[in-house]
Amino acid sequence: MKKYNFNAGPCVLPRVAVEASIEAIRNFDNTGIGLLEISHRTPGWDKVMNECEALWRELLQIPENYKVLFLGGGASTQFFTVPSNIMSKKAAFLETGVWAKKAIKEAKLYGDVEVVASSADKTFSYIPKEYTIPTDADYFHITTNNTIYGTEIREDIDSPIPLVADMSSDIMSRPIDISKYGIIYGGAQKNVGPAGVTFVIVREDLLGKVERQIPSMVDYRTHIKGGSMFNTPPVFPVYVMYETLKWVKSLGGVEEMQKINEKKAGMLYDEIDRNKMFVGTAAKEDRSLMNVCFVMNEEYKDKEAAFMEFSKERGMVGIKGHRSVGGFRASIYNSCPVESVEALIKCMQDFEKENA
Ligand SMILES: *Cc1c(COP(=O)(O)O)cnc(C)c1O
Repeated sequence: MKKYNFNAGPCVLPRVAVEASIEAIRNFDNTGIGLLEISHRTPGWDKVMNECEALWRELLQIPENYKVLFLGGGASTQFFTVPSNIMSKKAAFLETGVWAKKAIKEAKLYGDVEVVASSADKTFSYIPKEYTIPTDADYFHITTNNTIYGTEIREDIDSPIPLVADMSSDIMSRPIDISKYGIIYGGAQKNVGPAGVTFVIVREDLLGKVERQIPSMVDYRTHIKGGSMFNTPPVFPVYVMYETLKWVKSLGGVEEMQKINEKKAGMLYDEIDRNKMFVGTAAKEDRSLMNVCFVMNEEYKDKEAAFMEFSKERGMVGIKGHRSVGGFRASIYNSCPVESVEALIKCMQDFEKENA
């Protein structure tokens, strides 16, 4: 049976990127040696690193004074790497979910943390709007897409202090004005590749200002100097990311991705709002285009397990909500085909016909 993959991460990848990566494992760049067995110091690999960086720069229009790094450790490693590099005394945070809370916990190891606003009062179902960014903090940290709760900050906000954004789950889903940010980071496994590589876009002049000693591997300057190859880079994940970005470019870049994402999310939210049996959990104005969260309507609460089973029989995979919120979550990142969204909508409609 055909499977429709809605997993939140790692998630579905473009088929062409998967096929190209399989071929590279067999024979990388016509060297007769597989990608998993080559030295990262071969010219063919240099080419992949350079072209991958060039794709990032082209797709997101990254200005010259920003560096692009491909590192290990996941977004979670950036939770302490960012404060280690740029926090002298204090950092400000917008608390919009579990990932923001985890970032706050790590930042506290390096100084004071001011949470300027939080949506914890309503299970992170909205994005706080009324807050003042303190000008005496070293930076202001946001999570642009809250993967677990399905809320998203879709514009590039103005900040009087350097803006740091965890964009793990919505990078490359829309054009962004990079110049409004100091640092953007994320794990690749939601929207740009498989697990194992972390992207960091950093404005270089922010570095070198803290007094603390920074371990070499944590210091962004080490990786800038080494071209993300100070130590062995995550060769395979970088390669799959490279093929994924080629696919994004082939479709017309992030402007086109945004149109497709708006269409996919629009279709699914329309069905949630129309269907008697379901209700969306995120505030309408803050709904994520990437993670669509919904629950059974009060009247049909006892049907949750039945819908889970019904959807499974029709090939839906990964639509169970995060364990902290329950219900359902369909992650419809860039690589999730529109056919998957159509199949899920059909499934919801058929379930309604049989049960409501
Ligand atoms: C998944 C996720 C993370 C954690 O990423 P890892 O690479 O697993 O450390 C952090 N932030 C957000 C917004 C995420 O969706």
